[in-house]
Amino acid sequence: MERFLIALPESCTNKEKDIASSSKESEAEEKEIIKKGEETQRTRSESNEEDIVLPKKRKIYKQKWLQNVNGSNYCQVCMTFIEGESFYIKRQSLTKAHKKTESCQKQQKVKETELKMSAYLCEKNLPFLLADSFPQLCADMFPDSEIALSLKIKSKKATQLTVGTLAPYAIAKLVSDLKTTPFSIMRDESTDISTKKSLVVIVRYWYNDYVKDRFFDLLEVDDCTAKGLFNVIKKKLDTFE
Ligand SMILES: [Zn+2]
Repeated sequence: MERFLIALPESCTNKEKDIASSSKESEAEEKEIIKKGEETQRTRSESNEEDIVLPKKRKIYKQKWLQNVNGSNYCQVCMTFIEGESFYIKRQSLTKAHKKTESCQKQQKVKETELKMSAYLCEKNLPFLLADSFPQLCADMFPDSEIALSLKIKSKKATQLTVGTLAPYAIAKLVSDLKTTPFSIMRDESTDISTKKSLVVIVRYWYNDYVKDRFFDLLEVDDCTAKGLFNVIKKKLDTFE
C-alpha cells in the first residue's frame, strides 16, 4: 500500500496530494523498516551461515584419522598438518600416499587381531578348529567393524601363527626369565603313535611372588637311561647360552 502511494502521478487530486505528501513521511519510515528488515535478514543469513558451518566441522572431525591439534587439522595417517579447510582435508584423504598408508595400517591391525586370537586359543587350551568358525561369528556380531569383516584366519593359519610367530617369542621370554632366577625341571617320557620316544620338559620357577609352571620343550630321545635323558636336556639348555 505504501509503495503504491509513493508512485502516484502529478495529476492526482489535492486529497490524493495530501496523502502523497504524508507518504513522504511514511517513505522515511519505509526506508527505516527496509533497513531494519535488511539488518534482520543479514543477521539471519549470518546465523544461517554459522548453522551451516558448524555441522560441517562436526562432520569433518568425525573422521578417525583427522584430529584437531592446537587448533590445526592433523592427519594421523600421514602424520602431517593440513593447511586449509574442508576442501584441502578432503583432498588429503584422496591422495595415494594417504590411501596406501591407511590400507597398511588396517592390514596391520587385522594381523594383530589374528595373532591375539591364536594366542587366546593357546592360553585357554582351546582347539585350533575353533578358528574355522570364530571369525565368521565376529563378522556377524560386529558388522560395523572393518577389522572383524577383514579377518581371514582358519585353523591352519592359527597353527602357523602359533608355531612360527608366537612360540619363538614365548620361548625367548621364558628363557630370559629363567636366566634371572633358579628353576627346577620336571620331565616325563612318552611313546607316540610312530613309536618314537619323546621327553616332555616342564620348568618351575619363582617369578613376581608367584610359582610358575611352564612347558619348556618336547624332546626326542633314543637313550632312555638317566645319563641319556640328562644329556638330551643339557644339550637343549646349552643352545640358549
Ligand atoms: Zn593423510
